[in-house]
Amino acid sequence: MHSRWPVIITLRHLILLLAVFSAAVMLAGGMAGAYQVQRQQLTASTLEANEAFATKLARTTSDLLSRAQSNLSYAAERIVRSGMAPAVQQAEVERLRHLELGFNSVTVMDMGAVVRAAAPESLGLKGRQLDLAQWRDRLNEKEPTISAPYVTGLGNLGIVIAQPLLDADGGHLGRLSATIYLRSDGALQRLARDQYFRDGTYVYVVDSSSRLLYHPETDRIGSVVLHNPVIEAVLKGDSGQMRVVNSRGVDMLAGYAHVPGADWGVVVQRPVHLTLQGLNDLMLRVLRQAVWPALALLVMLWLLSGWISRPLGELSRIVRDGYQEGMSPRIAAVNCWYLEARRLRGALLSGYGQVRTRMGELHSAAHTDPLTKLGNRRGLEIVLKTLETQRRLFAVVILDIDFFKRINDRYGHDMGDRVIAGLADLMQGQARQDDGVFRLGGEEFLAVLPQTDLADALRIAERLRAAMENAPLLDDAAVTLSAGVAVWDGGDVEATLKAADQALYRAKQGGRNRVESTAL
Ligand code: GH3
Ligand code: MG
Ligand code: MG
Repeated sequence: MHSRWPVIITLRHLILLLAVFSAAVMLAGGMAGAYQVQRQQLTASTLEANEAFATKLARTTSDLLSRAQSNLSYAAERIVRSGMAPAVQQAEVERLRHLELGFNSVTVMDMGAVVRAAAPESLGLKGRQLDLAQWRDRLNEKEPTISAPYVTGLGNLGIVIAQPLLDADGGHLGRLSATIYLRSDGALQRLARDQYFRDGTYVYVVDSSSRLLYHPETDRIGSVVLHNPVIEAVLKGDSGQMRVVNSRGVDMLAGYAHVPGADWGVVVQRPVHLTLQGLNDLMLRVLRQAVWPALALLVMLWLLSGWISRPLGELSRIVRDGYQEGMSPRIAAVNCWYLEARRLRGALLSGYGQVRTRMGELHSAAHTDPLTKLGNRRGLEIVLKTLETQRRLFAVVILDIDFFKRINDRYGHDMGDRVIAGLADLMQGQARQDDGVFRLGGEEFLAVLPQTDLADALRIAERLRAAMENAPLLDDAAVTLSAGVAVWDGGDVEATLKAADQALYRAKQGGRNRVESTAL
């Protein structure tokens, strides 16, 4: 079966293609697998870390608030014990104000809603009478409180931590309260802000009504965030981790923790794309690292594919041009180091062995002319058939002795026979190893010259003609011959023989003792 297209791809290229293709598939598969695993791990560890941070921050915030409350309670006790002495009141608010807790303002209010002491004094609150109706409820609270964020008189967003001033019988004397501004640089803010990393991780804190108490984008502090699953979860009192698309459509890895004392929520989160950015870089680095090994592999594959294809390539090159003398040793010399090549080599060797045997058969009696020991017509047919099958080009030279009848007549038939044998010897003496020499009958001969072009064939015929002319076959006269030459071009062998015959005829017509040729 022949394909419509000429086959140009070699075994070596096929092996290379296959190997490169499988290597590429394996690399891609490996990279994809590694990427998946790394991605999962990175996501899980980021969630874990964010939850741990959120928990730590919630605890610290809770500690800070309870420290603030215990400081207020301690100050309240001293104020009450002093019998609401104004100097003690002022001293205590000043002291509280300067604590590390980050109170922005501290005030003592009596039950008439008059500010008795305030720090800093620059606020100008001290001595001011506030609207009692508005403050009554708060003044009557029995427990310490942490307020919801509210906008202060100066336009700040703040929370108020308050402590009732109660006498020994639980009677209300007033209220000690401290304000922490959420947008300014207080301890709460520092706590949260310090956790804002360059890797895109950030913290925000919400109160029980989903209002932002802290956010790195300070503009957003005080705004309410709706429909955020993380905030909904944290305000239920849960702590945990969640992958969530935030209110701005960014895919986030969030860890969250509830601040028990204040009913706040702390959320630590990092955008997924920033988390995976490092992984993408890592994959690129791995790929870049793989370039040299890949090139080394390619070189190795190139050598290996050459090694595998070499025996078949050599065998195919040897047999490409058909049978030639000395082919078998060349085939035997090919290093066939694997089974299929070895089998092929064996098959070729035995095949060409048979051809040689066939050639050998030509010498058997049936194909030999008894007078001259040259091949006869049958022998010629076999040789021509073989050459035709092998598609080996060849030239033929047909010879005929001139005026042979006269030699017979003048010197006798025996002498004629000797002349015939003499010409046969001449021809054999001049024949090359591959050439075939035949007696067609009477005093007519034919030489088959494989791999010989017309010019060479003419030269050979001419040499033979000259040799005959000069051979001392008869004592008193020269014997000459005429020759016709033709070359087989791969077409009809009979036509080539006919062409040589016609050339011989022309040589006779042209005066004999000459060589003519017919180009097909
Ligand atoms: P031309 O130059 O045209 O070839 O002239 P020619 O005399 O050689 O003519 P042709 O080739 O026709 O003659 C062949 C002669 O060769 C005829 C025959 O008597 C003779 N002959 C044929 N076979 C033998 C043989 O085996 N021995 C001898 N001695 N003569 C033979
Ligand atoms: Mg003749
Ligand atoms: Mg003749």
